Amino acid sequence: MNGIVMKFGGSSVANAACMRQVATLVASAAHRPPLVVLSAMGKTTNGLFAAAQAAENGNLESAISGMNALKAAHLTTARELFPEGIPSALEASLNDRFGELELILRGVALLRELSPRSMDAIASFGERLSTLIFASFINAPLVDARKVMRTDDTFGEGQPRFVLLPELAAEHIAPLLTLGRTVVTQGYIGATEDGLTTTLGRGGSDYSAALFGAALGVEEVQIWTDVQGVLTCDPRIVPEAQSIDQLTFAEAAELAAFGAKVLHPATIQPAVEVGIPVTVRDTQHPDGQFTTIAPDTRSDRAVTALATRGPVTVLTVNSTRMLNHSGFLAKLFEVFRRHGVSVDLIATAEVSVSLTVEADAPLEALISELSVFAKVVAVQDRAIIAVVGERIKQTPGVAARIFGAMGDINIELISMGANEINLSLVVPQPTVVEALRRLHRAVIEEAVCA
Ligand code: ASP
Ligand code: MG
Repeated sequence: MNGIVMKFGGSSVANAACMRQVATLVASAAHRPPLVVLSAMGKTTNGLFAAAQAAENGNLESAISGMNALKAAHLTTARELFPEGIPSALEASLNDRFGELELILRGVALLRELSPRSMDAIASFGERLSTLIFASFINAPLVDARKVMRTDDTFGEGQPRFVLLPELAAEHIAPLLTLGRTVVTQGYIGATEDGLTTTLGRGGSDYSAALFGAALGVEEVQIWTDVQGVLTCDPRIVPEAQSIDQLTFAEAAELAAFGAKVLHPATIQPAVEVGIPVTVRDTQHPDGQFTTIAPDTRSDRAVTALATRGPVTVLTVNSTRMLNHSGFLAKLFEVFRRHGVSVDLIATAEVSVSLTVEADAPLEALISELSVFAKVVAVQDRAIIAVVGERIKQTPGVAARIFGAMGDINIELISMGANEINLSLVVPQPTVVEALRRLHRAVIEEAVCA
């Protein structure tokens, strides 16, 4: 259908000035029209968790004072948005919500029991309050997300009932959008079939946005945050890092796995799966660069981004018995499994296998068990660099550029991910900054194109 989802995170609605900026952005999209999905203001959710925990510990005073601090912040925001006075309906609703929250906190303190179910009820107030204020400010209908976001009863991590969402969205949200109205709703929260409040887990608002977008079949899901989209590299390491124009879902997943600060791809999967582009935009620089995440790449760049993880340890396992021996790898990995150590990169040769593990893996135990059937060498203080790009494999000369750029930096292990969009290199940890800068210059600033 016509329409977009615009999701704003906690920092985008942290105070009255931020909310005004959001209102401007929403107004300029009125013709599309938007479903506005909001997070709680600033660090409200953390405050709610802290108050709940204080109540559980029997510290009612601290719980109530925490709640009062949140109340003051919300009232200040409302007052600043309505200099002529908070509309009485809004003021009454805010008071009602805080009255309800206080009752729940008192109940938790009396029983000294905080079940996941009670925690969700408490956590839901953040989004319920931010949307109450914002919807009133822009004078738009507020749809309670709990009417649409049906989940199971895994409190704290409600699993959306995907098949039910389109019907519920069609009933409660679509008619308003069809009339051309801008609609406001909450991220993060949902409800069970019995109407019990649930949450999708911390940071769940992106997931809400993607789920609402997919259920409605909108044209675009916009994730508004405080960074200019997804960057080509960590800007603290490479100041020349740029905003990535086009990112595929698989590329985003690779980057996230390497700890790149992107929204977690799993959260936007519902939208990407049905072919809805997801964009990551900067609330404070709405006309600046942004990133589009789509199923297929339209970019002809070979390398999209660089990421790094470390320190890691490289273990090289040599065994002449490996030759012609089926079951060797099974035996090898069984040792890692027994110690609960996950193996990251792997490169195999005829009589040896090299692999990386986290720096805190129980090295001594691993080595002593592996030594029973193989020779093991461990090298610590190494880092993995991931060179990520959907077209790396098809682009002639890209490997030469990558290895050429590294110059005198020793590459100790190379692994091409099974999905062929991640070329990983292991280098000594102290060289990683220089390696990333060289690579960024050679394959991103001077783009290598297919
Ligand atoms: N307010 C929730 C949290 O802080 C959800 C979100 O912001 O995405 O976890
Ligand atoms: Mg957030």
